[in-house]
Parts: sequence; structure tokens; C-alpha cells
Amino acid sequence: MRILLVEDERKMASFIKRGLEEERYVVDVAPNGEKALFLAETNPYDLIILDVMLPDTTGFSICKDLRTKKNDTFILMVTARDDVQDKVLGLKTGADDYLSKPFDFDELLARIGALLRRKRLDKNPVLKIGDLELNQLTHKVTRAKKEITLTSKEYSLLEYLMLHAGQVVTRTAISEHVWNEDFDSFTNVIDVFINRVRNKVDRDFKKKLIHSLRGTGYILKES
Ligand code: CA
Repeated sequence: MRILLVEDERKMASFIKRGLEEERYVVDVAPNGEKALFLAETNPYDLIILDVMLPDTTGFSICKDLRTKKNDTFILMVTARDDVQDKVLGLKTGADDYLSKPFDFDELLARIGALLRRKRLDKNPVLKIGDLELNQLTHKVTRAKKEITLTSKEYSLLEYLMLHAGQVVTRTAISEHVWNEDFDSFTNVIDVFINRVRNKVDRDFKKKLIHSLRGTGYILKES
């Protein structure tokens, strides 16, 4: 799951980014409205955390802009004070939820979790391909009931492959969903991570689930 964090206070932004990355989210940070709109229009985010008070604009204006352009990414608006009018305005401009500063990081996580669950329309959080299972809520991964320990990035990669099981996923698509803006497309980092995930998911099993398609990308499927 990839998140755009729009926050101009640098300390706050890096604190939230680090916390979210520990929770296995992929995070980009925009310190102003201009960068926020640019990133939101060029990357496929699952959620935008949008600070209301920004140096060049307001979160309300960004939100309105994105909705006018038919961008329907979930937006969690964050404001400096618990102001009912701000809340009403935020929801009117198209935000999906609202959080007022100061907030606990745990509360932020809970709100994000709730929004992303809504996005999945209360579907079963367990993705299952053959005997491979991944729980999107608990982040637990098992194959043939045996738990597999993955790093944050390995988890994101496997989750993305499983969400698109049976479909060919290109390296470009993987880089856009699993890596953030710092990704350098001239490295073989995706192949390296695919190999790591393969070692954990496929190596000890006769039936392989992750397949490479020369020059195209990868596909996760039962046979
Ligand atoms: Ca601010």
C-alpha cells in the first residue's frame, strides 16, 4: 500500500514517514501543495494524508483540485485544531476522513487501517493462492500453514503480486506500487527482491508460484 504524506513540518513528516514504513507502507512526502499535486497525479497512491495548513496553499484546495480531476484516492485530512468548520469544509471538498493535530500515531494508524479496509470493501483480508496465504490486516504470511518471515519491502512486493495473481506484472508497475519516489529504475533492485521473496516462498516447495517472464515481468499463479 502506497501513501502520499503531504506535510510541511519536516520533523513531523519524517516521524510519520518512519512510523508508517515500519508498518509496511510505502511512503512519499510532499512538503507543499505544488509537489503534492504533482506526485498525486503521477503516482498510483492508495491513500493521501493531507495537512490543511501548507506554505503555498491549503489542503482543502488540493483536495478540491484532485476531486475535480476525478482523482478518487482516499484522502485523510489533518488540521492543526479541532475545528468543526474545518471538518465540515474538509468533508465538503471531498476528504474521506479527518484527524486533528495533535494526534497519537496509533490513532493515525487506526484511521488509515479503517480507510484501507473500506477500500477493500470489507473483503476477506486473507489473500490465498494455492497453499500460500497473506493476511493484509495482520501481515502474517504462511505457505502450507508454515509461517514465512518477510521484511517490509518483501511483504509489499508479495502483497502486490498476490493482489494481481494470474496477471503479468511489469517491473514498472512493481516500482510504482512497491517503491517510493526515490526508486532508481536503472538498478536491478526489483529482481533482487523477487529472488529474496522466491527463496522464502518457493524454494522449499515443489510447486513454484512466482514465475518470471523474460523481458516482461513476473506472474504469481498456481501453475
Ligand atoms: Ca502545516
